Amino acid sequence: MFRQTKAVLQKLRYLSFNGQQHTWKQKSTSARKRAVQYQPGQKIHGFTVKEVVAVPDLFLTAVKLTHDKTGAQYLHAARDDSNNLFSVQFRTTPMDSTGVPHILEHTVLCGSEKYPCRDPFFKMLNRSLSTFMNAFTASDYTMYPFSTQNGKDFQNLLSVYLDAVFFPCLREQDFWQEGWRLENEDPTDPNSPLVFKGVVFNEMKGAFSDNERVYAQHLQNKLYPDHTYSVVSGGEPLAIPDLTWEQLRQFHATHYHPSNARFFTYGDLPLEQHLKQIEEEALSKFERINPNTEVPSQPHWSSPREDHVTCSPDALAPDPARQNTLCVSYLLGDITDTFEGFTLSLLSSLMISGPNSAFYKALIEPKIGSDFSSVVGYDGSTKEASFSIGLQGMAEEDTEKVKQIISQTINHIIEDGFEEEQIEALLHKIEIQMKHQSTNFGLSLASYIASSWNHDGDPVELLRISDSVAKFRQALKENPRFLQDKVKHYFKENTHRLTLSMSPDEAYLEKQAKAEEEKLQKKIQALSDRDRKEIYEKGLELLAAQSKTQDASCLPALKISDIEPTIPITPVQISTAGGVPAQYCEQPTNGLVYFRAMCSLNTLPEDLVLYVPLFCSVITKMGCGALDYRQQAQQMDLRTGGMSVSPQVIPDSTHLDMYEQGVLLSSSCLERNLPHMFQLWSDIFNSPHFEEVERLRVLVMMSAQELANGISYSGHMYAMTRAGRYLTPAGHLQESFGGMEQVKFMKRIAEMSDLSQVIRTLPRIKRHLLNSDNMRCAINATPQKMSDTAAQLESFMKQITGNRKERKPVRVNIVERPIDPLDDSGPSRKLVSELNFQPCQMKTFFQLPFPVNFVSESIRTVPFSHEDYASLCILARMMTAKFLHGEIREKGGAYGGGARMGGGLFSFYSYRDPNSMQTLSAFRKGIDWAKSGQFTQQDIDEAKLSVFSAVDSPVAPADKGMGRFLSGVTDEMKQSHRERLFAVSHKNLVEVAERYLSVGQKTCGVAILGPENETIAKDPSWIVK
Ligand SMILES: [Zn+2]
Repeated sequence: MFRQTKAVLQKLRYLSFNGQQHTWKQKSTSARKRAVQYQPGQKIHGFTVKEVVAVPDLFLTAVKLTHDKTGAQYLHAARDDSNNLFSVQFRTTPMDSTGVPHILEHTVLCGSEKYPCRDPFFKMLNRSLSTFMNAFTASDYTMYPFSTQNGKDFQNLLSVYLDAVFFPCLREQDFWQEGWRLENEDPTDPNSPLVFKGVVFNEMKGAFSDNERVYAQHLQNKLYPDHTYSVVSGGEPLAIPDLTWEQLRQFHATHYHPSNARFFTYGDLPLEQHLKQIEEEALSKFERINPNTEVPSQPHWSSPREDHVTCSPDALAPDPARQNTLCVSYLLGDITDTFEGFTLSLLSSLMISGPNSAFYKALIEPKIGSDFSSVVGYDGSTKEASFSIGLQGMAEEDTEKVKQIISQTINHIIEDGFEEEQIEALLHKIEIQMKHQSTNFGLSLASYIASSWNHDGDPVELLRISDSVAKFRQALKENPRFLQDKVKHYFKENTHRLTLSMSPDEAYLEKQAKAEEEKLQKKIQALSDRDRKEIYEKGLELLAAQSKTQDASCLPALKISDIEPTIPITPVQISTAGGVPAQYCEQPTNGLVYFRAMCSLNTLPEDLVLYVPLFCSVITKMGCGALDYRQQAQQMDLRTGGMSVSPQVIPDSTHLDMYEQGVLLSSSCLERNLPHMFQLWSDIFNSPHFEEVERLRVLVMMSAQELANGISYSGHMYAMTRAGRYLTPAGHLQESFGGMEQVKFMKRIAEMSDLSQVIRTLPRIKRHLLNSDNMRCAINATPQKMSDTAAQLESFMKQITGNRKERKPVRVNIVERPIDPLDDSGPSRKLVSELNFQPCQMKTFFQLPFPVNFVSESIRTVPFSHEDYASLCILARMMTAKFLHGEIREKGGAYGGGARMGGGLFSFYSYRDPNSMQTLSAFRKGIDWAKSGQFTQQDIDEAKLSVFSAVDSPVAPADKGMGRFLSGVTDEMKQSHRERLFAVSHKNLVEVAERYLSVGQKTCGVAILGPENETIAKDPSWIVK
C-alpha cells in the first residue's frame, strides 16, 4: 500500500472519527498507572528508559526508551485500551522514482528466515484475530503496524513482523511478483507478446489514474526539488522497470536496520514483554550503524516559481470545460518544531475550513471552481511543512483571477485577522477530538507522531496537545496580531512558493500508453533469444510457485478455541420519548453525548428517491432558524462535535425482499452543550433555509466533484453496488442512493443552469421526515448523564413532532417489526416489503478513463437469519484467501480481489485490475474450486478466525448498540449467528457452493468499470453505459 499523509489537524481527526467498533474494558489494574512507575535511566531488556510522561488528556502514559546497542528508538503509550498496537517505522529516503521503498515494503512481506513460506503476511490475516494489519510507504518513511485485542496473538504477529522487516528472504521471485517483470502475456504460451507485470507496477498505474493523486505528487516533487521529495517514493510506473533486484536488497540493508528504526507500542499489555521479545528476536542480532538517512532542509528560493502539468480528461467531471486545477503552495518551517506546527495547522483551518473561513468565502463561494484543489491546507508529512491553497474544476481563463484572489485574501487576513469566536470554535473542536474515543486510537497515534518523529522531533511533546493549546492562548494574549504576523511571514513574504496549474490533455492516456510501449520495446529489443527463453521459463516457474499448495505450518496461529464462545451483551433500554421510540445505551463516553435518529422514508414518492443523498448532504449546511449558513456552521463548531445526515438502506435480516429506507441523523456534543445541539436540530427541521440557490449550487458542485473523484478509489464498491442492482429491492435502492446511478444524477444536477426545480424537491423530502410515526432515536451517554439527557430528548421530540399530520405511505406494502423482539406490543420499525420483486440477470459495463478495471459479480443468496448465511460468510472468506487472492492478485496482477457476503448477496470483486474477462472466469473457477471440496479443515479454521476477527472487532462507546438500533439485530441474534459460524463444516461449505453459487442456481448480476473493452463491445449481452 502507498499513501501520502495529510495535515496534522486532518490526522488529528483520525484520532476520532474513524469510529467502527470497539470494546473498552475498564480494568482494575490500570496500564497507565503501572507505566508511570518506570524511572529514567532504568535498564530493561537491552533498552534504557529516557523519559516517562503522563498525558492525562489522552488518558495515557508515554515511556520513551532507546536501545543501547543499536540506538533504535522506542515509544510506548500505556493506555487502558485492549486494542493493542505495534508499529515499526524506518526512515526511507529514495533518490529515484523506481519505487524502491514501496516494492521493498511489499517484498519483505513475502517470506522471512523463520517464516520462509510464501506470503506470511497475508497468511497471518487468517491465523490471527488482528483488528488491523497493514504496511504503508510514505514519502520518507515506511511503516508496519498491526493491532489486536488478544495477548497471544500480539506475540505471534510481533514475531512475524519482526522477522519480516529484519530478516526477509527477498527472493528474486518475490521481486518479480511484487515489483515488476517482463513476462509473456499468457505465461504458458512462449509466443504470446511480452508485457510488464507486477503488483506495485499495476498498483501505481492505478494510483496515477487518479488526477488528484497526480496533482499532489507533482506538487510535492516540485516544491521540494532538491532531495528525496523530488522523487516518487511509491514508484513512477515507467521508472519502476529500471529497478534491479540487487538495488532492492541494497536498499534493505541500509534502511531496514535497528539504527534507522522507530518502534511504537500502545495499549494495556505490559511493556517489558514487548521489549524482551523485540530484543531477543531481532535487535540483539545487530550492531549499530550510521544509516545516514537524514533529509536536509530544502534550500529556500529567492523568488516564487510557476509550473504546469497535464492530466487525463475526466469523463465524469461536472463541467467538461472546467477541469483545470491551480494552487499556490508555500514552504513552511520544520515540522519538528511542535508548537510552530500546531500553530500553523490551526492557522490553516482558520483560513480554509468551513463557510466562515476567508478562503472559502473568496474562492469557493464565487463558484470559480468546483472545490478546493485536492491538496489544500497545512501538510506536515514532509520534513518542512507546506501550505497549499487553490481550486479544482475551474476554467483555464480564470487562472489569473484565482492567483489574484489568493494574494488579495492573504492581504485581507493580515489586515483583519480572525474573529475570536472562530478561534474558539476551533479549540472546541480539538477538545472534542481528544475526548472522543475511537476504536483505532493506537493506530491514529502512530500515524499522528510518525512524520515528526521520523525527523527526530519529540513524539511525546506532540502528544501533549493541551500544552500546545495553552501556549497558543498565551501567545494570542500577548500579541493580538500573533496569527496575522504568521500569515505575513509565511505567506506574504515567503518567496519559496510554487504556483502549479494542471489541465486535461485529450491525448494524455494515449501518450502514456505510448511511453509505456516504448519502454517495453526498449527492454524487449535488448533481449537475446536466451533471455527470452529465460523469461518464459521464469514465468512458468512463478506460475508453478503460485499454483502450488502452500505449507504455512511454520507460522504461528491462534486456534478456534482461542475465540470467545459468546459475545459480550450490550445492555440497552428501550422506551419512548415524546411518543417516539428511544434506545438508551450507557457507555463510558468521556463526557460526550451521542444522539442519533433514524427517520424512515416509506412514504416518499418514487420521483424523490434520487434526491435523498443530495438532501442529506445539504440539510445541515444551508442555514436554519435565525442563523444564516455561516452562523449555523459556527454554532455547530462551537457547540457540537458534528451534525450530519446520511441516507440509509437497511436490508431486513429475515427476508431478502424487505428493507427499510430512510435517513439517519448523527451528532455528538459535550454534555454541557446538549440543549444547544437539540436547538440546532429543531431549527434545522422546523425552519431550514432552502431558498438560497447560490448556496445550494456551491454544495452541489462540491458533492458532484467529490463523487467523481471517488470512483478511481472505490471503484470496486461501485461495481459491487451495480452488480447487486437487479437482485434485491434493497440493492436497487442502494444503487440509487450510492451507486453509479447517483454519480451520474449528481453530475446532471451540477450541470443544470437553473436549480430552482431541485430546490423545490428539498422541502418535499423534508415533509416526509420527523413524523413520530416513522422515527426512532438513540442516545449513548454516561450513566450519570442519562436521565437528564432523556428528559431533554423528551422535550425536543415534543417540539419537533408536535404538529405533524400522519402521512399515508405511498407503498401499501409496509410490514411492522417490534423494536424489542420480546415485546410485540411495544414500538415497531416499519419495513417495505416487495414480495413480488423479480430479480433479473444483468451485465453492465461502464467505460471510464482508467487504465485498470473494477470487476464484480453478485449472486442473490439468503438473508442474515437464514441457516446457510454463516456458511456463505465462511465460504466467501475462504475462497478469498485460498483461491481468489492467488488468481486475481498473484497471477492476475490486480491490486486486490475476493468475495464477501452482505445484504443477502454473495459478491465477488477485483480492485485495480488489469484484466476483466479473465477475472470473471477466475470468479467461476473459485466456485468450481469450492464445489470440488479441495480444501482442508485448516483452511476452514483459518477462514473462521478471519471472519471472527471482523465480527469481534472493537466497537467504540459511541457506537455500542447501533447495529441493533439500525437493523434490529439483537445480541441474541448475533449469538446464534456466532454459534452457526462455529459449527460450519466442510460439508456445509460444499453444499452452499452448490446450492447458491452454481450456474443457474440463483440469479446473478455482473458489473465492470474500466477502459474501453473490445470483448464487451462485441458481446450484445452487455449493457454499455
Ligand atoms: Zn503497495
